[in-house]
Amino acid sequence: MTHTPIQEPLWWADCPPVEPTPAPLPAKVDVLVVGGGYAGLATAHELAQGGAQVAVCEAAPFGHFASARNSGGVSFGLELETLRHYRKWLGLKGSDAAALAAEAAQAVDELAGFIEAERIDCDFRMAGRLVAATSERRFRQFEARVASLNRLFDARAYLVERRDQGSEIDGPNFHGLMVISRSGQLHPAKLLHGLLRCCRLAGVSLHARTQVLSLQRQGAAFSAQTSRGPIECERIVLATNAHLHRLGEIGLERRVVPVVSNIVVTQELDQGLIDRLLPRRRTASDGRRVLAYFRVTPDGRRFLYGSRAAPGEISTERATAILRARMVRSFPQLSNARIDYAWGCQVAFTLDRIPHLGESAGIHFITGCHGNGVAMMNHLGRKTARRILSGERSAFDANDFPRIPLYRGTPWFLPSMHRAYQFIDWKSER
Ligand SMILES: Cc1cc2nc3c(=O)[nH]c(=O)nc-3n(C[C@H](O)[C@H](O)[C@H](O)COP(=O)(O)OP(=O)(O)OC[C@H]3O[C@@H](n4cnc5c(N)ncnc54)[C@H](O)[C@@H]3O)c2cc1C
Repeated sequence: MTHTPIQEPLWWADCPPVEPTPAPLPAKVDVLVVGGGYAGLATAHELAQGGAQVAVCEAAPFGHFASARNSGGVSFGLELETLRHYRKWLGLKGSDAAALAAEAAQAVDELAGFIEAERIDCDFRMAGRLVAATSERRFRQFEARVASLNRLFDARAYLVERRDQGSEIDGPNFHGLMVISRSGQLHPAKLLHGLLRCCRLAGVSLHARTQVLSLQRQGAAFSAQTSRGPIECERIVLATNAHLHRLGEIGLERRVVPVVSNIVVTQELDQGLIDRLLPRRRTASDGRRVLAYFRVTPDGRRFLYGSRAAPGEISTERATAILRARMVRSFPQLSNARIDYAWGCQVAFTLDRIPHLGESAGIHFITGCHGNGVAMMNHLGRKTARRILSGERSAFDANDFPRIPLYRGTPWFLPSMHRAYQFIDWKSER
């Protein structure tokens, strides 16, 4: 009989999406936050601690989207080399690499500090991250990356030659590794639940299944129409990630591309097999253009493997088959492992390949996590709050970050880009 995986995140077995008891919507608040993922909740928590009256409207139950579906890697995750190339090719400007790197590294420390200070039980460990080279050439390219990671991020990164990699990974097709010590991991849905608790304690008004439908300016303030009635507010923060709605007509749908990432999780595995796969339990990736990421789950029993299975939305069955085949190519010892959980979700990409916060026409926004938002979206949420409370600025500030030419919300270019990336990966592994 064919086994059908559970088509929802493993994380929900411990922490399912939640709907706080519906309270009446407040008639008026200082700040309305649209979206209740990490970015929205971190913004709301920081604002409420600063004395503001805040409501969060979340279209789904809290913990339904990326913030409770990701793989739980905590890293700065900026590809500054790529950023440099993109800026050169496209003639883009922005904060310098050192400022971006310093703030991204700060985001990791800030999240670690927050988890500790608020005693959030989310299986957080600064266990480090490794990037496995899929060819000898790729491994040699890591030398320059290690140097730049250590210079810019103080990443405590180093190389592990292929002959020594058995202490880190059991992947016969990998050609050596780069280890980045200044990275961590956690249980993403437990973090989200912890943030919700902090918001509740700080007095944030939380509203699940409350979609914000439109925003209207009223003098210096706003009136927001939601699926449960109107709210008036002085400021608005859009923390809607890849879910793009024409709220306030600030044009995010022309600057942010939603891209789906999928995850599969195996059945519980033999302890010896798990101990050989990733002995130090670091989070890991294969460094490809169409990147695959993997880790052992926090209970130490299963293997999680994720990637972009296809350029657009495909069925979970098809995504599972694609990911499983890729996983087994890298880890042939998993050829008999059953897949117990499979899910996907959108992440938000920007043209200049970095996340942004900003403000346009009085509406603040946080977007563009590029699949690296666990530390960063928490950080940019807090930065947005501090920008509202005291004018504090961020290296990721970009009120008018670049629009994508010929793009109006339908990412027609993704299939060609996906194929091009697959070709680059194939060629670099010849
Ligand atoms: C499969 C996968 C794996 C990932 N792995 C990692 C990882 O290992 N490490 C890492 O750093 N990052 C990872 N990420 C990225 C990370 O999950 C995201 O960057 C982060 O969760 C984004 O947080 P957010 O608050 O911006 O978005 P979300 O969590 O998506 O929250 C946005 C919310 O806005 C709500 N919303 C949208 N429109 C409206 C509206 N009009 N009214 C009301 N509510 C609205 C949505 O319902 C949604 O809940 C991964 C992402 C995915 C999908």
